[in-house]
Amino acid sequence: MTAAPESASVLLLGCIADDFTGATDLANNLVRAGMRVVQTIGVPDGPLDAAVDAVVVALKSRTNPAGEAVAQSLEALAWLQAQGARQIYFKYCSTFDSTPQGNIGPVTDALLDALGSDFTIATPAFPDNKRTVFKGYLFVGDQLLDESGMQNHPLTPMTDPNLVRVLQAQTRRRVGLIDHAVVAAGAEAIRGRIAQLRGEGVGIAIVDAVSNADLLRLGPALADLPLVTAGSGVAIGLPANFGIAPSSTASALPEPGGHRAVVSGSCSQATNRQVAEFIAGGGPAFAVDPMQLAGGVDALVAQALEWAAPLLGARPLLVYSTADPAAVKAVQERLGVEAAGAMVEEAIAAIARGLVERGVRQLVVAGGETSGACVQALGIAQLQIGAQIDPGVPWCHAASATAGGQGLHIALKSGNFGTDDFFTKAFAALA
Ligand code: ADP
Repeated sequence: MTAAPESASVLLLGCIADDFTGATDLANNLVRAGMRVVQTIGVPDGPLDAAVDAVVVALKSRTNPAGEAVAQSLEALAWLQAQGARQIYFKYCSTFDSTPQGNIGPVTDALLDALGSDFTIATPAFPDNKRTVFKGYLFVGDQLLDESGMQNHPLTPMTDPNLVRVLQAQTRRRVGLIDHAVVAAGAEAIRGRIAQLRGEGVGIAIVDAVSNADLLRLGPALADLPLVTAGSGVAIGLPANFGIAPSSTASALPEPGGHRAVVSGSCSQATNRQVAEFIAGGGPAFAVDPMQLAGGVDALVAQALEWAAPLLGARPLLVYSTADPAAVKAVQERLGVEAAGAMVEEAIAAIARGLVERGVRQLVVAGGETSGACVQALGIAQLQIGAQIDPGVPWCHAASATAGGQGLHIALKSGNFGTDDFFTKAFAALA
């Protein structure tokens, strides 16, 4: 593939992620391996205007009907090809979230067809996050996938830990296995096994990996594949194929400035601990009570912003709806699960926008859905990925319509990520 004329820079790796926080996770691993990366929210309207090595297009296609997921993924592929991407990476969840209808199989089939390729690999292995694959079986920590809790997932229950079988049910191509004995023997052995599987008519091979060393051995063997499909783990071994080594310049962001704030709509255990620790440390905090939102979001948003205005500047402040499971259940019983979630997201996003309008330029957002709502409210289309604060959570820099054309530093923390002191540590890391 050659670079399209409209591309401003040479794009090495073009990535398509099937959800928002998964995209950030992948971008984070690529930056740590030395690539300069931007993440886009959906497929951009125009050409890439940043000098980067990789772009991660964040879709929301994991649980869509397969036809929609395929259409979105092909649109992302066409855009990435127009930017000159030399290799395509389809990123899915490290627990291989899917059903017999898809979407990992159908999207992989469609991307292979569009790229005119007859072979790719598939592995969700991410040893740093305790996802390992052995003999084709996926482990989450010490448990097989179907004993890990994922068998009860409301949308994508995973009841079979054997990924060869799981994927075979979703694809018209033959699925094979590159097992650990081959991976342990190194890149040459993996290349040999790929040639053998191809000769046998296998189109997609599940790959075993139980350590980062396995992933680093796998990387060079994938250099010639037009398409790689994986969780975020495989990304650690790919930048070296393009002559890129880890360096601090990859994660360099513009100088931080402005006021500092945290907004939290996550009710996960880790976030509850982070909120408690921030308050115990004397941090100024405003609790958003969802019951009060039932009468209209605007009044409470105004109240939160009035509280925040005189406090901005001195130290980071926190606005949160974070609550323990019993409190969340009570709210959901009163307002309904979806209505409560939507109302709180709307309120937190409006507060985030109000804080940025009042000069906040370093913003931490806690919660996956909450992050989506805030990014949308702030008019952010693209994030430049910086240094990692905690595994899976980097600082990012973004142009925001709300910030009046100025840049904004933003960290999007999904539920259970981050240590208890995350809300103070994040700002210290940026300073
Ligand atoms: P996480 O990443 O921890 O799952 P999310 O932001 O994805 O966090 O999801 C949390 C959901 O809970 C959001 O829809 C949010 O609006 C909702 N929520 C937040 N606080 C409360 C609360 N106090 N009561 C009920 N629902 C809440």
